Amino acid sequence: MKVTMITGDGIGEEIAQSAMDVIDASGADIAWDIVRAGEAVYEETGVLIPDKVYESLEQNKVALKAPMTTPIGKGFRSVNVSLRKKYDLYANIRPVQSIGALETLFEKLDLVLFRENTEDLYAGIEEKISEDEMRSIKVITRKSSERIIRRAFAYAKENNRSSVTVVTKANIMKLSDGLFLDIAREIAAEFPTIEFKEILVDNMAMQLVINPYQFDVVVTENLYGDILSDEMAGLIGGLGLVPGANIGDEMAIFEAVHGSAPDIAGKNLANPTAIILGGCMMLDYLDKTKESNNIRHALDVVLSSPENFTHDLKGTATTSQFTRAVIEQV
Ligand code: NAD
Repeated sequence: MKVTMITGDGIGEEIAQSAMDVIDASGADIAWDIVRAGEAVYEETGVLIPDKVYESLEQNKVALKAPMTTPIGKGFRSVNVSLRKKYDLYANIRPVQSIGALETLFEKLDLVLFRENTEDLYAGIEEKISEDEMRSIKVITRKSSERIIRRAFAYAKENNRSSVTVVTKANIMKLSDGLFLDIAREIAAEFPTIEFKEILVDNMAMQLVINPYQFDVVVTENLYGDILSDEMAGLIGGLGLVPGANIGDEMAIFEAVHGSAPDIAGKNLANPTAIILGGCMMLDYLDKTKESNNIRHALDVVLSSPENFTHDLKGTATTSQFTRAVIEQV
């Protein structure tokens, strides 16, 4: 099975290699088509996403992607946002599951966040009114809201999940968030066996740190989902542990939730768990569940011994030591 691997910036290459080594060791029989995109490629060639990346994606339809650097407040548009929009990868799915024996705020947590991935304030409609006034337009449509909310409920039903919580700020943004909430209520009525909960985003941010066990599947808009998923990652030990999938009707791109971590790039310090788990989501998507479960089990065993903890988990293991330990368990 051929899949595209997009290596990125910062820690991107180190963790991409680690994920490929672990997946190869699992016997999943993946042929990697390795292509590069991101800031480093842009600096070398003036092109952020070379044609080769598009060609490979369009041929293989499935990819694992390392993080990319995006300049803050200026410069080019994010590679991630561009790929999500171009290929209409509307469902961003981020499972937040406790792993190993890490000292974390909460144990045995198992949440799955469904985030709308193509519109909201990330639609990229920004305008300069004057030197001192800028505007960004928030876009919420029935079509995009319906498909992500339906996906969250379908997932909950297939996986015997107890509840779906919709997160909005519909008390203030009565039209845009109001539409998202109305659609959630309509779809919830089609799934009477699943408990439906509604919550405002500010309260959600607080409830997550007080008692996250009251939530199960969560569905929300693009910006809230981006922020809440980082908060959720913090509950189980940090950004190095949470993967994500960007799924459309024709293509799927899997990744780590975290960014390119330029502060630790090239130092063999990065925790590759999140991108390896992104690889597991990819293997599930390809119906290679035996291999993905094997790798998840290996990660659980490895993260149960503090000698394997990387620096983000207050340990001293390097990326390569961690990768070797996982490969030994696969
Ligand atoms: P970041 O996620 O890169 O890093 C935040 C902190 O977490 C840093 O201290 C970093 O060292 C640490 N960290 C992150 N991943 C880690 C890992 N695997 N192992 C150990 N420590 C890890 O976020 P940032 O610093 O805000 O962003 C850096 C760049 O990444 C920015 O250009 C941003 O736009 C980009 N970004 C890309 C993606 C993506 O490609 N999917 C996602 C988020 C941010």
